[in-house]
Amino acid sequence: MGRALDVAGVREGDLVQNMYGYGLFTGGLGIHYGARAIGAAILPTSVGNTKRQLMLMKDLRSTVVTCTPSYMVYLVEASQAEGYAPRRDFALKVGIFGAEPWSEEARKRIEDGFGLRAHDIYGMSELYGPGVGIECEERNGLHIWGDEFLVETINPDTGEVLEPGREGELVFTMLSREAMPFLRYRSRDLSTVYDEECACGRYHSRIARIKGRSDDMLIIGGVNVFPSQVEHVLMNTPGLGDQYQIVVTHKQLDRLTVRVEAPPESIRDPNLIKKIQENLLAVLSIRADVELVELGTIPRSTVGKSRRVVDMRPRF
Ligand SMILES: [Zn+2]
Repeated sequence: MGRALDVAGVREGDLVQNMYGYGLFTGGLGIHYGARAIGAAILPTSVGNTKRQLMLMKDLRSTVVTCTPSYMVYLVEASQAEGYAPRRDFALKVGIFGAEPWSEEARKRIEDGFGLRAHDIYGMSELYGPGVGIECEERNGLHIWGDEFLVETINPDTGEVLEPGREGELVFTMLSREAMPFLRYRSRDLSTVYDEECACGRYHSRIARIKGRSDDMLIIGGVNVFPSQVEHVLMNTPGLGDQYQIVVTHKQLDRLTVRVEAPPESIRDPNLIKKIQENLLAVLSIRADVELVELGTIPRSTVGKSRRVVDMRPRF
């Protein structure tokens, strides 16, 4: 974890505001001890209490933040609502975001909002916790530490091992851990492994941004839908807020409803819903109902991972 923070540009003398949960979730303590290992100071605010997060961020001049990307997107909006001018009032230079899939559009919102450089980080509790891999300064994939982990991709349906460059499920073998060896452990995370040397000069293999989980993929009327695809459409449609929900119901047929927040002028726009539906159809290949709701009405993700998907279908 210390190595991962160093690669992201965290240095001795930085103040790391750690907004990951402390406790059984490995993110909080993993970042904490990693920051201490490289001599950075740590501000262990943990999750929640947004007003206090912002107050401490400003008063103590935090230079690094860590949290889920969905919470940081929320903070762009929340900080402005609290009267802050994020680029002026905060001293953030680096943000390290992980624990859930996110998009390039979310990265842009965070970077534009706070004027920091956002790095994607990867890990899982079974493999020590956070810091299994991280984006270097090139940010063209996440380096997986090859001296600790052998990473492969397989076809999740057949178990067939895939060549580097082909998308599949990541499978890890731990090379140095004792007492609890892991041999070809299936992560359920979908990505692509790249073996070529990175422009940064490191040879540790890279994985592409996690596309989703092979088990959070929704199958709606026989069509595979990733929540990240819906986010991609919404974030590329002007005039919408940041918060949304994907609701799946079943009445004779599966039905997908995308509920998204929008300002009053967008809600009054007679063409906006149709436009979103067309964009969703183009990306997902299925029709979706779209509901525009007032800003602030969808429950915010202030603790842990966001619950974007509400699947109300009966289980058979
Ligand atoms: Zn690199």
